[in-house]
Amino acid sequence: MDLFYRSTRSDCKPVKASEAILKGLPEDGGLFVPEYIPMLDKTLNELSQMTYQQVAYEVMKLFFTDFNKEQLMSCIEKAYDNKFDVEEIAPLVEANDAFYLELFHGSTIAFKDMALSILPHLMTTSAKMNHVDKEIVILTATSGDTGKAALAGFASVEGCKIIVFYPKNGVSMIQEKQMITQKGDNTFVVGISGNFDDAQTGVKHIFNDKQMEEELNKHGYQFSSANSINIGRLVPQIVYYVYSYVQLLKEEKITDKEAINFVVPTGNFGNILAAYFAKNMGLPIHKLICASNDNKVLYDFFDTGIYNKNREFILTSSPSMDILISSNLERLVYRIANGNPEKNKAFMDALNHSGTYTIDSEMADQLHDFYGNYATEEETAAYIKNLFDQTGYVVDTHTAVAGAVYEKYKASTNDTHKTVIVSTASPYKFARSVMTAINQEYDKLGEFELIDELSAISNVVVPEAIEEIRHADILHQNFCETEKMPTVVKDFLGI
Ligand SMILES: *Cc1c(COP(=O)(O)O)cnc(C)c1O
Repeated sequence: MDLFYRSTRSDCKPVKASEAILKGLPEDGGLFVPEYIPMLDKTLNELSQMTYQQVAYEVMKLFFTDFNKEQLMSCIEKAYDNKFDVEEIAPLVEANDAFYLELFHGSTIAFKDMALSILPHLMTTSAKMNHVDKEIVILTATSGDTGKAALAGFASVEGCKIIVFYPKNGVSMIQEKQMITQKGDNTFVVGISGNFDDAQTGVKHIFNDKQMEEELNKHGYQFSSANSINIGRLVPQIVYYVYSYVQLLKEEKITDKEAINFVVPTGNFGNILAAYFAKNMGLPIHKLICASNDNKVLYDFFDTGIYNKNREFILTSSPSMDILISSNLERLVYRIANGNPEKNKAFMDALNHSGTYTIDSEMADQLHDFYGNYATEEETAAYIKNLFDQTGYVVDTHTAVAGAVYEKYKASTNDTHKTVIVSTASPYKFARSVMTAINQEYDKLGEFELIDELSAISNVVVPEAIEEIRHADILHQNFCETEKMPTVVKDFLGI
């Protein structure tokens, strides 16, 4: 039986997975959610004998029910191949009293690769299944990592074009260089004057612009989204929660059905929502620890039940989490509103109009799976330094936010469940922040001197993704004011 997807904001007609992947967003401005969360149909012991690719199949087949086995396996095999520099795809590293789940072994060395290596294949397969004859235009807003991962995934994919908007002054030098050196005639990269939320809102406006949609149609194009609101990104992220759990089981670090914690450095709430789905599929998870940086809207939400984006936007050393409108939270709000789209819509309308909403106590009672906290810039830097001094292991700033929040969690709860810290980026991607956390003196070094020094102190070879941009040519030099985003899109498409 097919699993259908409905909108979080109205009772519009449910669609199949392939249609939800193609459309990205439902027409009413909500997000697609599965009608129910399927249970794993293999035991944890069975799963522990499988490769990453096999686990991926076991998870995805339950959500993408209109794909046949051959189609799904083909997508998985194209995605999780030797683009990843380790065979396990998502290895675990034990240091101090936690396990670090390294999700940065793909082509752009951040966790977005985990989903964006497969999304283009899910999308082109969906297009074939639905007899789409138009060219797909992927429109993406990025706080840095999504952009490059989406560009790498979609570059030169036939039948697709990709346009990426990023905040010109809100990404790291390495992140920007990775994007503006992107090859492929079907790619287009634009810096905007605003911050990430402005970029994301701009993209949402373009998606909801009916007139623009008609113009595109006339010229043989249709939009889709590679942002984490696409269920084609959410579902592949469930896989590594299941995989890391069964790896721990296989290595006898935990016993069968032993509950563990996951600490997730969070921005748009996509990654941690995938962990929540994994828990609802039957994976034994005790707490989902939601870690924020100084932009602590989510901590305040879990603490008070009030979501309030009306606050100063703070640029931090973990830019991929500098977000005040956490899009995927809508899927959680919908769920704790017992799947009532009107109720959810009222909250989202309030967010749109006044920038804030307050959930009721019945809803707040359903948030006990989560613990939220945040780490300041000083706490984040201190975590990097302490972990390095004690173990020689170097983590990036986002992972350090998670680590620092885990320290607070342990101190306030005395919880002893084994814990996995989700490591979302390679320290190489944020070398300056990481190195100056270890020693302020490093700030004197140039960008690539820092890279070489990081390699020397951590004993980790410089990843291919960094080597590549050392001498790469800059191929994109576009900039626009936020309001001009629709014009820029039309210009690139020649309409
Ligand atoms: C995107 C990103 C995050 C935040 O993930 P969400 O799914 O948006 O919560 C954390 N760390 C890094 C390195 C990222 O690129």
